[in-house]
Amino acid sequence: MGCLGGMGTSGLVSAFDPLANGKEMLVGGIMRAIVFKLYDRGFLSPREKPEIFTKKYMHWTPFQAEGYKLVLDELVEEAGVEVRFFTKVIDADAEPSHGFVNGLIIQNVEGLCFVKGRTFIDCTGDAILSDLCGVEYREAGKDTPRIMPATLCSYFSNLDKSKYRNVHTGDPRLQQAIDEGMFTQKDRHLPGMSMVSDTLGYLNGGHLYDLNAVNVKSLTEGMMKGRKIVREYLAFYKKYAPGCENAELVCTAPVMGVRESRRIVGEYELNYEDYIARREFPDQIGVFNKTVDIHAYDTSDKEFYRYLKEYEHTAKLNPGEYFGIPYSILVPKGWKNLWVAGRCASSDLRVHGSIRVQPAASMMGQAAGTAAVQSIKTGQAANDLNTETLVTSLRDAGAFLPQKTLSAKMTR
Ligand SMILES: Cc1cc2nc3c(=O)[nH]c(=O)nc-3n(C[C@H](O)[C@H](O)[C@H](O)COP(=O)(O)OP(=O)(O)OC[C@H]3O[C@@H](n4cnc5c(N)ncnc54)[C@H](O)[C@@H]3O)c2cc1C
Repeated sequence: MGCLGGMGTSGLVSAFDPLANGKEMLVGGIMRAIVFKLYDRGFLSPREKPEIFTKKYMHWTPFQAEGYKLVLDELVEEAGVEVRFFTKVIDADAEPSHGFVNGLIIQNVEGLCFVKGRTFIDCTGDAILSDLCGVEYREAGKDTPRIMPATLCSYFSNLDKSKYRNVHTGDPRLQQAIDEGMFTQKDRHLPGMSMVSDTLGYLNGGHLYDLNAVNVKSLTEGMMKGRKIVREYLAFYKKYAPGCENAELVCTAPVMGVRESRRIVGEYELNYEDYIARREFPDQIGVFNKTVDIHAYDTSDKEFYRYLKEYEHTAKLNPGEYFGIPYSILVPKGWKNLWVAGRCASSDLRVHGSIRVQPAASMMGQAAGTAAVQSIKTGQAANDLNTETLVTSLRDAGAFLPQKTLSAKMTR
């Protein structure tokens, strides 16, 4: 695409999941700096303030996607990072038996190009690079019975902030609209519309069930269906949500909002027992509090109540708590110069339902980048990196890593 930010910009997913746990801000480093920059520039929702997003429990921080693009451009310019937009990784020269990547083939307006490198980080969400290299992974729908639904996000204008009251999951007006036949699918789970400015709203609404993000036919059908469904939500919000009477659809995202596709098999697979135990790791590169959030797989009662129970009760961490994200979930098992960060990191399905979101993805990204630099400087392989050094570097860069014990060896 023509911007950085992935889902947060191109995908119009214009809210950060909880950055804090009710007691303290868990997300430090680059992500914290970005949120403050967005705030200083007026690119966060008008109601957002540092005392809210640095502290509040289970609080979402809405932002303007255009502002986020600009801030990311400025940050990479300041840091001297060379960026190539509109450039796709289409193949890799890798040696799976040695766990080594020699280079990539990229494709853009200039044609095809082979790029050699010493370290590589896969932040494609769908583990595209890992797949091209021959890394082992688990794929939704193949290695799991179902695929968490996707959503095509959208922006609405002409909202009246002074009157706006969101209508979302559990609101009787949603059921009333379903009963009236306003929707082609009887979807009672509606994350809702967040105000990102005084008049603009970002809608996270309309599930695309069983969409397969690594199948182009499925993706194409999903985009077309998503655009139809958004029109139904426009009519619904105009009728039922105060402040949305004059709402207009500005745009739908140019890319699909994918929640689940592939998770690599890493040196460690973070699991639900770790999460429930609020386990801390000597090599943790981030701590997080977001609850397991696996959207209903279909519109049935069974799925709706399964989702609600897990999200609201069984899997919820309390205020002040957190669990650790270890370094070893970023390293494909056996690989020496390849890392992943974000949605395709190594975890079981339920933990993926927590760490798949933007603040956790950003912490993983900073850790993978820092690890790659350490690897280049010291010659240490990704799967044999001194994690005591890594954690110290991340702390120096502002990460909140409260573990008391460090270890040179990663968690396995
Ligand atoms: C509908 C929806 C609502 C969500 N709501 C929230 C929310 O409220 N708050 C929150 O924090 N998170 C939310 N999430 C989760 C979150 O947005 C994503 O899971 C997260 O952004 C994933 O980050 P990532 O860096 O792993 O991947 P992405 O953000 O998807 O970034 C992947 C990047 O890789 C690029 N790419 C892909 N393939 C290639 C290739 N072959 N070559 C080169 N580049 C490539 C893409 O263009 C993109 O820039 C939501 C997700 C969805 C789908």
